[in-house]
Amino acid sequence: MSLNASDISSIIKKQIKDFSKKDINKKSEQGEILSIGDGIALVSGLDEVKLGELLDFGNDVYGMALNLEEDAVGVVLMGQSNSIKEGDKVKRTYNVVSIPVGDQMIGRVINALGEPIDGKGAINSKKTRVVFKIAPGVMTRESVNQPLETGLIAIDSLVPIGKGQRELIIGDRQTGKTSIAIDTILNQKGKNVKCIYVAIGQKNSTVAQIVQKLKLAGAMEYTTIVIAGASELSPLQYLAPYSGVTIAEEWMEKGEDVLIVYDDLTKHAIAYRTLSLLLRRPPGREAYPGDVFYLHSQLLERAARVNKKYGGGSITALPIIETQSGDISAYIPTNVISITDGQIFTSEALFNSGQRPAIDVGFSVSRVGSSAQIKAMKQSASSLKLELSQFNEMQSFAQFSSDLDDSTKKILDHGKKVYSILKQPQYSPLDQSIQIIILFTIKNRLIENVPFNFIDKFKENLIEFIKKDPNANEIATEIRNTKEITKELNDRMLITFKTFVDNFIISNAIVRNNQNQEANKEAGDK
Ligand code: ATP
Ligand code: MG
Repeated sequence: MSLNASDISSIIKKQIKDFSKKDINKKSEQGEILSIGDGIALVSGLDEVKLGELLDFGNDVYGMALNLEEDAVGVVLMGQSNSIKEGDKVKRTYNVVSIPVGDQMIGRVINALGEPIDGKGAINSKKTRVVFKIAPGVMTRESVNQPLETGLIAIDSLVPIGKGQRELIIGDRQTGKTSIAIDTILNQKGKNVKCIYVAIGQKNSTVAQIVQKLKLAGAMEYTTIVIAGASELSPLQYLAPYSGVTIAEEWMEKGEDVLIVYDDLTKHAIAYRTLSLLLRRPPGREAYPGDVFYLHSQLLERAARVNKKYGGGSITALPIIETQSGDISAYIPTNVISITDGQIFTSEALFNSGQRPAIDVGFSVSRVGSSAQIKAMKQSASSLKLELSQFNEMQSFAQFSSDLDDSTKKILDHGKKVYSILKQPQYSPLDQSIQIIILFTIKNRLIENVPFNFIDKFKENLIEFIKKDPNANEIATEIRNTKEITKELNDRMLITFKTFVDNFIISNAIVRNNQNQEANKEAGDK
């Protein structure tokens, strides 16, 4: 029996006519595992599955559909996959990945799926949010012009960060990157900023120390920690920062300010590379898949300051990137530098020479700049960057000559002292008003008569003086309240702190030393 063309076409037409929507749903609700390994499953039969949809593998194992191909779906598994095997059935859940959000998340330590891992019981959150979301658009945004104080004098004065900004912390391993972020979290105490620390691909012991530190300092009262450790599957490491920012978005839409730290995105990119290679996506530069730029831009674009109509809150992001021997021109560093609004560059040489936090002033920038500073800070820090770059320049050529003229000597002497003042021990953020007064003494050259080896003591005593002396304390309060140094305040500050410096010099017998030096010099001249 033979079929002619018109028969065939009528059969096809009939099949198309009978092919109802119901059949599609029925057919695609369940699939079957074709192959499984390394946390990746290839599943057939799920024709209707959505990108990012959660799939149920049974035994409490879930997966996320990431590769939608013609005959099969590439799924990343989120959970122990020992119990599942080829041929098992896979069910659709019709939900994309979402996690619990809200104030119940404060003080909790969770994994990338939003499940508590701190042993404090279930999280009774009433609301969940979808993890992958488009960032707020241009028209919903407000300009970034409120300071987010880090408490680190070198950052707040030279590379100020604004609420809603994305500032990258970049540097070699063990140069104090995490410490800068943790100090910033500690400094948000009592400032109405909620914090989220996302640890990606780190050793559990390192993260445990951080959690302990935050607890002791009382910072867990406003902080949530999301962990996807080094031992966890790469899909979870990939997911963790998005989970963190999802929790932040809920607060931002309620008008609150949030600070989120991604520690670090280098390991995040590596997790994504692993996952992509296992999904057989073609590798590109440095074996990363082609969309690795999109991976980080879709994450960091979600940091924003939105306008009143959209809640009026903000998400400030501090992503961290680790470089190899200071090479900021590698693939992932250049990507993230171009996505963020500036970078804080930590240098190994500075760190090893004892200049900590090891912020390289020359390489560090904040593209939001002084609009994220209060006026008083702008006034006190205005000449600082110039002074330091002058010092750096002079220092390099001063090495070759023994006879230096007086003005060069002065610049070198002053710069050395300023660098020393910018040093700050860990876990000791400084209040903005104290920072401003310290910078005031630099700007007005009140430190000129304080010898270099007395600078640490000078700074220490000055901070104590501001806290204890009623007059100095009043000045600090006025700076905090009016946020600017008026002419009157300026005069008052000059008198108060000049007297302080004079007393410091006398009580440390520094004048006599200077006189001795001068006497010696005169004797030498004769
Ligand atoms: P990794 O690359 O391992 O993540 P990192 O760049 O995040 O390292 P940290 O872990 O923050 O660096 O710091 C490295 C070491 O330096 C720690 O032991 C820390 O205690 C010390 N450190 C960091 N900042 C300071 C500081 N301001 N003063 C003194 N020590 C510091
Ligand atoms: Mg670190």
